[in-house]
Amino acid sequence: MNKLTNDTRALKIEVEGLVQGVGFRPFVYRLARQNNCKGYVLNKTDGVLIKIEGAKKNTENFSNELKTRHPAAALVENIRIRNDKFENLNEFKILDSQDLSDEISQISPDIAVCDDCISDLKNQPHRLDFPFINCTNCGPRFTIVKDFPYDREKTTMQVFQMCDKCEKEYNDVSDRRFHAQPVACNDCGPEYRLHLKDNVVRDFEEIIDILANHIDEGKIVAVKGMGGFHIMCDAQNEAAVRRLRNSKHREGKPFAVMFSNIDKIKEYAQVSSAEENSLLSWHRPIVLLNAKKELAFSVCNGFNTIGAFLPYMPVHYMFFEKSKIQAVVLTSGNFYEEPIIIDNDQAKSQLFNIADAVLTYNRDIYNRTDDSVVRIINDSECIFRRSRGYAPHPIYLNLNIDGILATGAELVNCFCAGKGNQAILSQHIGDLKNYETYEFYTETIEKFLRLFRVNPSLVVSDMHPDYMSTKYAEDLKIDHIKVQHHHAHIASCMVENKLDEPVIGVSFDGTGYGSDGNIWGSEFLIADLKDFKRYTHFDYIELPGGDKAVEEPWRTAISYLYKYLGKDFLKLELPFLENIDKNKINMILAAIDRKINCPLSSGAGRLFDAVAAIAGICKISGFHAEAPMRLESVVAENIEDCYDFEINKTISFKNLFKELVVDIKEGISESIISAKFHNTIIYVIFEAVTEIRKETGIEKVALSGGTFQNKYILERLKPMLLSEKFKVYTQTGIPCNDGGIALGQLAIAGKRRNMGIRE
Ligand code: ZN
Ligand code: ZN
Ligand code: FE
Repeated sequence: MNKLTNDTRALKIEVEGLVQGVGFRPFVYRLARQNNCKGYVLNKTDGVLIKIEGAKKNTENFSNELKTRHPAAALVENIRIRNDKFENLNEFKILDSQDLSDEISQISPDIAVCDDCISDLKNQPHRLDFPFINCTNCGPRFTIVKDFPYDREKTTMQVFQMCDKCEKEYNDVSDRRFHAQPVACNDCGPEYRLHLKDNVVRDFEEIIDILANHIDEGKIVAVKGMGGFHIMCDAQNEAAVRRLRNSKHREGKPFAVMFSNIDKIKEYAQVSSAEENSLLSWHRPIVLLNAKKELAFSVCNGFNTIGAFLPYMPVHYMFFEKSKIQAVVLTSGNFYEEPIIIDNDQAKSQLFNIADAVLTYNRDIYNRTDDSVVRIINDSECIFRRSRGYAPHPIYLNLNIDGILATGAELVNCFCAGKGNQAILSQHIGDLKNYETYEFYTETIEKFLRLFRVNPSLVVSDMHPDYMSTKYAEDLKIDHIKVQHHHAHIASCMVENKLDEPVIGVSFDGTGYGSDGNIWGSEFLIADLKDFKRYTHFDYIELPGGDKAVEEPWRTAISYLYKYLGKDFLKLELPFLENIDKNKINMILAAIDRKINCPLSSGAGRLFDAVAAIAGICKISGFHAEAPMRLESVVAENIEDCYDFEINKTISFKNLFKELVVDIKEGISESIISAKFHNTIIYVIFEAVTEIRKETGIEKVALSGGTFQNKYILERLKPMLLSEKFKVYTQTGIPCNDGGIALGQLAIAGKRRNMGIRE
């Protein structure tokens, strides 16, 4: 007896992180059985609690395996193991969760259909070709969740009564579908309907045939996806893509392309191993890749990148199996800047304007999500749009942010709610200036507050007086903190990297409201989570026509040339001015002289705009940040040259423009001009932060703001700074564009509140 006690152990193990709704408890159950351990596992507020008993060796094996393995979609943040009382339990059980609904704040993002399920489609009698197949390791999650705890009755699967077979699997702990809430089969699950202009097809086999034929024939079909409707057409058929562009009113922005498999992607694009990992991950994001073979021209519209992704719903796989086509445009089903459509009736009434057929299914999408977009930079996955597959996984801060709501920025908005030390960042919302998007925003805030049981006592917004998100915050009539835009960018980067000490913050983007009322966007800050000091920035430039200048980069180009070269620049007869009315140019110069509707901007994006316009790459911007994106798209590799600049109190590009116009006159190619310009930005940052470190001794550099989506810059700047012994922090899991602003706002508000500061 004595010997037995010496050889046995009892442990209590707490696992924190995203471990609910991802098959974690069955995984623990199997692990315990394999190791001959007794005990139990149950869901608790922020994870699971495990009790195990058994021989010392077995419990050790169990905890070691728990530390190194877990189900694919689980995200383990922390494992705590303590010795516990030996109770001589005689089996291992999965216990019912206590009612924790007010405390649980973890909802799994949606998970791409897994390989086991894809193979079940061919083998499992009641799930042959069942297009809603899923298991504990895969399937819809966030998009169907209406409330906590994550049980079937609280999802949009509630209306589907499980059949006996499914119920048996659901209750069988050794089954792959044990407690898989959306479990269903051909006898009891949701169904697709294909709406043609004059009839409706209900037979799934027929639906897939017609879908494949339609796409093969160059037609366009709207297809209900996981988080909203998509529009699909052959990515090799220029006429089809052109027609899609025209009816969607989407002129320049590249379309995402879904390929049948990874080998097909490799035929069309360069794929590094990090890129391959992202493409194949269960998140299934759109990955921006360097193109190597052309699709229909209008897919990428002259950009050298392809936004590629792989099938993630059973219907995608089934389509590719039937169709001759291996690459389809799969873009969001919406108009202009409106949110992606999720409702069947709305899809049927509106999407026939774009599509020849509309494919729906009868399970509701409760939480709208767009496809997420990532790019691999410095071998890390950097999220540009964080939505399906990523949201609403929380970010853990070393800071109490409970009860704080951060309303975000305006363009590419996400908001963020604080619960305990968890920051719950919303899915991508979009441009709040659009009325429908603003409705989506207010609706989603209400959903999040209810779902995650957050009752905000403090709201934090941008300083911009005209942002819809600022107005929303004001209307709440609770304590309200306003945070400077670029400080929020840097704070977002800091908390993502768990920093809470002064850093050199380099925040480059297009536009953000500055503390002096001007438009900022090339900011070198000395910042901590509480506050910041502006160290230096690019020279202010007049933006003739304000927002008009953002849409028409040639206006900013004129403003820069006028500022640095004087009126003489007109004598140079630069080619980019050829087709522009002389009177219009004179009016702009007069407006600058008289300071009429010419707000001052230090936005880095505007400098990119001006250079792109002068180089003839982009004079008019068809979508947000088109000019900087096109400028990066043509950049030549292996060019070391740069243009000259001067760092005084502010940073002057007088010499850059002098040299640039000479290059233009000499007919230097746009790719070399682009490379020289990009190198200039890299050196400006390098020299400025070197200067700041000399003065302050701070060696931590945080880089954030939309400009750091630029792969060319980041992949050269970061190693350069590292080689000079800087510590460099960038954003990866949180967008460095305005989609990440809300997280920074939340952290700043939390820090100030903890210090007793009320503004
Ligand atoms: Zn599965
Ligand atoms: Zn069933
Ligand atoms: Fe910004």
